[in-house]
Amino acid sequence: MVSPFVYQSHPARVVFGPGSLGTLAEEIGRLGAQRAFVLSTPDQAGVASDLVARLGDLACGSFTGARMHTPVDVTLAAMADVTAAGADCLVAVGGGSTIGLAKAIALRTDLPQIAIPTTYAGSEATAIIGQTEDGIKTTQTSLRVLPEVILYDVDLTTSLPVAISVVSALNAIAHSVEGLYSQQANPVISLMAQEGIRALAAALPRLVRDPHDLAARSDALYGAWLCGTTLGAVGMALHHKLCHTLGGTFDLPHAQTHAVILPHALAYNASYAPDAIARIEAALGRRDAPLALHNLAQALGAPVSLKELGMPRDGLDRVVELTLAKPYWNPAPLEARRLKALLERAWEGLPPAAD
Ligand code: NAD
Repeated sequence: MVSPFVYQSHPARVVFGPGSLGTLAEEIGRLGAQRAFVLSTPDQAGVASDLVARLGDLACGSFTGARMHTPVDVTLAAMADVTAAGADCLVAVGGGSTIGLAKAIALRTDLPQIAIPTTYAGSEATAIIGQTEDGIKTTQTSLRVLPEVILYDVDLTTSLPVAISVVSALNAIAHSVEGLYSQQANPVISLMAQEGIRALAAALPRLVRDPHDLAARSDALYGAWLCGTTLGAVGMALHHKLCHTLGGTFDLPHAQTHAVILPHALAYNASYAPDAIARIEAALGRRDAPLALHNLAQALGAPVSLKELGMPRDGLDRVVELTLAKPYWNPAPLEARRLKALLERAWEGLPPAAD
């Protein structure tokens, strides 16, 4: 029997395919814009300047200082350039850091955005924005920050190093895993979440063997879109809370932390989320979903312990405390003893266990 549900979709225009970057000028025109401002990280400044050159008179400037966790001082510096250039639309080329910067500018200006993702993090498909000021990260949801257009061009993803590709994809899978047992789970999003996990898990071994395999890269990018859409549509739970706490308090790397925690958070929730487990097992083609995710990460060379990410063992109690500080929805009840056991296994890099 289908459980009762509420389904709310976000407006989305997605242009997907190799060479789709060629449609950028047309997409800018569709938005009624004439002065596009290009954003990137310092690492991808070359990609940004290629885009500016490609756009010719349609480009009015660029800012290549995007940073992880969207620091407000970076946003204000970029906004000064955007305003001085008289921009009427933003083009963000890069991962979640660059897309986060475009969202932060859109939050303050309501400028339309074209997101061109080059990782699998999925921020482009959500109305969520996290920002950091004075070392504190706060997250909010607003339709003002949802990019108007997403342009997925697989050609831009082949340069993503294999190790980052793997953890970025596991980060994406985590969105769908939690989407499947979300309090707001619904049949449409569950279809997308399951297909997103399947596409990414099938693409990853091929991508590791040959990072320039365009078919594998395309499948991964397609999976990333589905997982990002899931993140944008339904609420997350324990896994995302733990990763947010570990990243924010101990400055652990974002995608790697997701890769380590996911099998353990799923094991914690497994007996309270049988439908999600069945869908994840179908998507992976394996029994024992938490162990299958652990084995997948290990086979792909992803980090499997918090220890190797530099997490101090004596910080685990603090994580438990912070994770329990504010109530939030999770399929399994949140208990300090079980959370500590989860974190200890994750710290050691042991296979996941229900308790
Ligand atoms: P990132 O954007 O920080 O990218 C990591 C590095 O890889 C950067 O230096 C970047 O320039 C480089 N890079 C990206 N694509 C590349 C490519 N194809 N080739 C070569 N180098 C490339 O990493 P991320 O994991 O995509 O994003 C993480 C950030 O996104 C975090 O701040 C996280 O909180 C945020 N995020 C937000 C949401 C949301 O919905 N708001 C969702 C997911 C992630």
